[in-house]
Amino acid sequence: MRSDEPRRGADHNVMREVNRSLVLALVKEGGPVSRASIARSTTLAKPTVSAIVDELIAEGLVREIGPGSTAVSGGRPPILLEFNARSQLVVGVHIGARRTTIAIGDAAGEEVARREFPTPRPTGGTLRDGPAPADPAVVLGRVASEARAAIAGAGLPAAKIAAVGAVLPGLTDFHTGVCLLAPNLGWRDVPVREILAAGLDAPVYVHNAGQAAAVAENLEGAGERVGDLALLYAGTGLSAGVLSDGRVFHGVGGTAGEIGHNAVPGLDEPCNCGNIGCLETVASGPAIVRAARRALAAGERSTLAELDGFDARDVTAAAQAGDAVAGRVIAAVGEHLGLAASWLINAYNPALVVVGGGLAAIGDLLLEPLRAAAARHALAPALRGVEIRASVLGPDAEVRGAVLLALQHSETYYRVVFRA
Ligand SMILES: [Zn+2]
Repeated sequence: MRSDEPRRGADHNVMREVNRSLVLALVKEGGPVSRASIARSTTLAKPTVSAIVDELIAEGLVREIGPGSTAVSGGRPPILLEFNARSQLVVGVHIGARRTTIAIGDAAGEEVARREFPTPRPTGGTLRDGPAPADPAVVLGRVASEARAAIAGAGLPAAKIAAVGAVLPGLTDFHTGVCLLAPNLGWRDVPVREILAAGLDAPVYVHNAGQAAAVAENLEGAGERVGDLALLYAGTGLSAGVLSDGRVFHGVGGTAGEIGHNAVPGLDEPCNCGNIGCLETVASGPAIVRAARRALAAGERSTLAELDGFDARDVTAAAQAGDAVAGRVIAAVGEHLGLAASWLINAYNPALVVVGGGLAAIGDLLLEPLRAAAARHALAPALRGVEIRASVLGPDAEVRGAVLLALQHSETYYRVVFRA
């Protein structure tokens, strides 16, 4: 008897939530609608619908827009309701090694404001090979103040922040909201969720850049809403964002998709992660530079030798201008990325593989060897019908994904279940 009571209470709360999200979804996607038509569509009792609508109006999520033009059976025309997208905002944050971008979205996902600034770094580096590690408190404090300023600047100071999506360049644990390791920021075990939630007084959802790019490409880019999508995120490092039915597959510790650190037999380069021979060491931006340097050191003739130092972009430009050494280097990286694509295809059987991150911009010089290698290595039944496409959103994918993830997490899951 006794043990039943909390359960009954919980069930009641769940039903309220379910009914509320059903009503809200109808207004959001089918509006303007009347209370009576909501009752008909949901088969909820009219008083139940009215109580939920009153609650949504009080919260500002729904508003009355006056009577409809025609009454159904000669009576008074019903009052129509519509969704008020500007009543709630989501904050999307992409903290990059160099730049931080904040996009404020309304409850329908439309961007209402944006801020961009160099990721704050102390001057006078303490790391040997780069800038000093970023101070998490300084970076995340700046994010919170810039987000608030952006909301006020958009004329929406009263709007509620429903959720924050924070996207980081490294290993993240979605479940705890901790950035486990971001070598480019010099971060290890930074409680991003805790710090940002205190600064913005809203729930915070932490993802890595590949996961965010996957969500953005699926909903607004190359993915065309296929839902089962794998995004190969190739830039300074290599990871993957894997979606199942549009949702990020996180794994128990939140690190699913880190295929850049799968070991490849025969490779012996030390990796950022501390291991040796990870795929990332031959399939990333730094891998392009290292391979080109090795070719020059071996005496190969290339226009790159005339440059006073070069980066992956210079190697790409040389390849595009017909430099044979640069072309071979890019093709080899493409082949290694194709191997990674075949792992994703065999392991997850996606409908589509999208190549994202900075290397996607290289285009066909990279993509053609990538596709050929994926076709060579993947299982035929898993490969059937799978397309490999380049990112459409480019460098906007991460922050757009941050907004969309915040939106996704701020909505309940119930209506998905009920529609199935
Ligand atoms: Zn590694």
